[in-house]
Amino acid sequence: MANNDPLRLERFGRVGLCYLPTPLEPLARLSEHLGGPKLLVKRDDCTGLALGGNKARKLEFLLADALEHRADTVITTGGPQSNHARQTAAAAARLGLQCELVLPRASRWTSPLYETSGNVLLDDLLGASVHIVGAAAGPATIQHVAEQVRARGGTPYVIPVGGSTAVGALGYVAATRELLEQADRQGLQIDTIVVTTGSCTTHAGILVALHALGRSEKVIGMSIYYPAQRAAQVVREKARETAELLGVPHAGLEDRVVVTDDYLGPGYGEPTDAMVDAVRLTARREGLLLDPVYTGRAMSGLLDLVRAGRFGDTDNVVFWHTGGTPALFAYADLFGKM
Ligand SMILES: *Cc1c(COP(=O)(O)O)cnc(C)c1O
Repeated sequence: MANNDPLRLERFGRVGLCYLPTPLEPLARLSEHLGGPKLLVKRDDCTGLALGGNKARKLEFLLADALEHRADTVITTGGPQSNHARQTAAAAARLGLQCELVLPRASRWTSPLYETSGNVLLDDLLGASVHIVGAAAGPATIQHVAEQVRARGGTPYVIPVGGSTAVGALGYVAATRELLEQADRQGLQIDTIVVTTGSCTTHAGILVALHALGRSEKVIGMSIYYPAQRAAQVVREKARETAELLGVPHAGLEDRVVVTDDYLGPGYGEPTDAMVDAVRLTARREGLLLDPVYTGRAMSGLLDLVRAGRFGDTDNVVFWHTGGTPALFAYADLFGKM
């Protein structure tokens, strides 16, 4: 882009971890089934790093920062089925860094597979040291592991849950530019982007890019972790931090934050019937796999909004697929024979 590019992302260190651009595809048979708006999917389940997902985009910036800090060990955290932990383990393996994963039992949902299959199986395969701990023991364990790394003369780089720093959010600033370029090239005017909101920097990064580029696309965040008000507050905070890092104005940005927790269900990682239906419908109409913790819930929200007539018939609505499919296997009890 020309000198008047407000984002100037080349200023920031970035390591290549993803297959980019990820595809932007129509969901023709799902749209037809619903008789509603034109649905499309942005395939960040196809970022390519050890089964893909949105964290790979954040890690391109985060691990460049780790290397600039001469770190030799990456420490991060998330639930036992954390996609972020799995992608961090893969990125560390690829860059020759050690990886320590502190995985508190953060969800009330448990099953034997939950701590042995899906993402956590892959964490171990990818060479990470895995510490599954009690729900409240995360911060103390991270500190302890970091001290152990220092004691052996190493340099730890701690990444918070979800890779949710302003540096991580740059991954979604870049991703949004990528999406807009794809849409422009296809002559497509996107009306609304639907995304899963967890630790909130995917959502925040998208909004910062749209705002800085003067675009009017709307974003609806489907919270899968925080109650709506708290989620909106965290998105606003992360958006402000990211705008400040980029040096772009954030006036008016806060007013663009829209988050609902209507599809969160009883709590993080706990199944909902609507999620199971959404995962099954999308698989059977599109051959597209979602996940039980994030995108299945967000899709249940999108389906509900479509059925409630929330979109115009000719609107273009992009569902941002953020990955997570390995967790399907950890929830096999739920999706097994019916
Ligand atoms: C982490 C994650 C999200 C949420 O992204 P945040 O930036 O943490 O809000 C959504 N979907 C999947 C599959 C994830 O792993």
